[in-house]
Amino acid sequence: MLVLKNANVFDGINEKIVKNATVVLDGAEIKEIIPNCNKAFENEEVIDLKGKYVTPGFIDCHVHFMLDEVPDKERMLNDHSAGGVIFSNVDSYVAFRAVENAKKTLKAGFTTVVDGGGVDYVDVALKDAIKLGYVEGPDYHISGKQITAWTSHFRGLGQETYGPFGMRRMVREQLYWGVDQIKIENSAPIRSVGRSLAKSAFTLEEMSAAVDEAHSADLLVSVHARGIKPVEVAVEAGVDLICHGTGMDEKCIEMLLDKGIYVLPTLASPNPNPEPHIVAAKSTRVIELLKETGRIQWESIRNAYKAGVKMALSTDAGGVGIKHGENAKEMLRMKEIGMSNFESLKAATSEAAKAMRFDKKGVLKEGYVADLVILNDNPLENLETVCSVAGVIKGGKVVN
Ligand SMILES: [Zn+2]
Repeated sequence: MLVLKNANVFDGINEKIVKNATVVLDGAEIKEIIPNCNKAFENEEVIDLKGKYVTPGFIDCHVHFMLDEVPDKERMLNDHSAGGVIFSNVDSYVAFRAVENAKKTLKAGFTTVVDGGGVDYVDVALKDAIKLGYVEGPDYHISGKQITAWTSHFRGLGQETYGPFGMRRMVREQLYWGVDQIKIENSAPIRSVGRSLAKSAFTLEEMSAAVDEAHSADLLVSVHARGIKPVEVAVEAGVDLICHGTGMDEKCIEMLLDKGIYVLPTLASPNPNPEPHIVAAKSTRVIELLKETGRIQWESIRNAYKAGVKMALSTDAGGVGIKHGENAKEMLRMKEIGMSNFESLKAATSEAAKAMRFDKKGVLKEGYVADLVILNDNPLENLETVCSVAGVIKGGKVVN
């Protein structure tokens, strides 16, 4: 058993701190949380947290470990020639990049993530490697390839198809690879030539076929949707999660509320005030496009939040210059659109677990998974503390 003493506990669901508690972990499970505990626990491994704060391990419902849209110039892997020719072994580079991103994310306190789309099924291999301990990373849930109506903007990320039978076939292909959710792109990527927010990429008939096929295998359907029609068609077809939710009107919000569907707001994807490293890496016209889309998205998410739409933390890390390992910044952005510290923390823990239907996760409670984050300060009062975690425990094991 691993015993954490002198801990101040935020359990992920109650807006309070349980003071001077002892958290007892039995293997990968939380055995007990004892308030005001002075028991000695001889013969057990005891860590004295000296008043530090403990929260459930954070959950990010949308990352891309295989992508790094704005890489660190000094550490860019040599996966193509100076003339722009991509090497035929490029997926090996993708895999090494993904290993580093998995580690960074875990060390930042994210003990569970959902990958919103891998590259050429490298995510399938990474999931296995993490599970077997070859690679240090969060509990990793995958989508395989995104189902798209158009060519994807990232090599190996999407699988094109059309028609209801095409959708069924593509979902089955993902099932073969053992994915955890089906990811569908229902609007064109931001920088597509001729992009229109008015167009739903797939028809209701196509989307419904995919949902039926995915649900028959008990998988959630997560849909990239920017624009009114893309959201409407997805929601009407009965999908489970809306990613981004850019430009939603009252009717969209109403539909989401009616069906109790979660939105994954990805407030950095894009941010109306892009971070300096993104501005430095992109042309002015791309930055203007990102800012404008970000502005529409934040307004849409703000309205949805005010109306009571359910939301779970999601960053889209890897895309639009969002750095892996900085996932917790999304909690601060959620605060900017109006959430309280408590609501942001819930979105990263218990609400994220509910959105993804993860059993026994996102809450610190007896019988739940022993995924924990250790923080220096009280996150209910000082939310910034989530961006520099003091320690991480995944599945009852201390992450170094
Ligand atoms: Zn994404």
